[in-house]
Amino acid sequence: MTMRTLFPPSFSPPEFQAGWVWLVGAGPGDPGLLTLNAAHALGHADVIVYDALVDERILELAGPKVELVFAGKRGGRPSPKQRSISLKLVELARAGHRVLRLKGGDPFVFGRGGEEALTLVEHAIPFRVVPGITAGIGGLAYAGIPATHRDTNSAVTFITGHSVTGEVPDNLDWDALARGAPVIILYMAVKHMGRIAGKLMAGGRSADEPVAFVSSAATDHQQVIETTLGEAEAVAATVTPPAVIAIGPVVSLRPSLDWLGAATQGRQLIPNPLGHQTDEAM
Ligand code: SAH
Repeated sequence: MTMRTLFPPSFSPPEFQAGWVWLVGAGPGDPGLLTLNAAHALGHADVIVYDALVDERILELAGPKVELVFAGKRGGRPSPKQRSISLKLVELARAGHRVLRLKGGDPFVFGRGGEEALTLVEHAIPFRVVPGITAGIGGLAYAGIPATHRDTNSAVTFITGHSVTGEVPDNLDWDALARGAPVIILYMAVKHMGRIAGKLMAGGRSADEPVAFVSSAATDHQQVIETTLGEAEAVAATVTPPAVIAIGPVVSLRPSLDWLGAATQGRQLIPNPLGHQTDEAM
């Protein structure tokens, strides 16, 4: 597969050289969200080492002779140790392959891309990073929730709900986040949502604050549940991961901005949900 026709005449993707590792973000699901460089890499890789979160439709874009190596969790079995995945990349590159390390979303956002790249550096393996659309931005956009909106928040905070130990990160100042982070986007947080919501409410956030769970975003199984911070723990128990969780006023824009619901389910979009004057002039 060359995918030549995808590219404008003024653009040619970088050559995928033998012995290189490309650390590529696959986006949240929809293959249409791949970058041109990611599409190029899929067509030219010899080996693809992919994670559980990579959508199957994306793997179908790979060339016919490619070797696919799964490096995620399956059927409840634990995932291969991170170090062994990194060393596998080294081994494949040393064998002269074009190695595509394909990760869900963006490789450098809660994706351990940095760790794998550091191992490549340690072993003097040349690599390229191809950013992808992270679930916390692109996945929310598929639910009609913007990460920022001028009327509501001039900052956005990404948090993992799962530290290295598997617990809610305790190296974060949750009181400061409750006060200073108008919109919070959580990754890997379904399991610990009750504790996180509790910490935010203890820090002063209202139990009425809008919350959305967006699971399997930008896939054929996308599901969105809107709730409140006070109800979030109970709702989390009904959510199937992977899910990103948005907390804050941007969630209230969804009845207006759920473009996907409008396109696929005929949802009527409500103009001006926040009741603000639209100011066309910047
Ligand atoms: N590198 C990825 C994040 C990996 S951490 C990225 O940039 O998106 C894994 C977490 O990502 C999941 O627990 C979930 O919170 C989120 N995630 C990844 N893909 C998702 C999807 N399609 N829908 C919802 N959440 C997703």
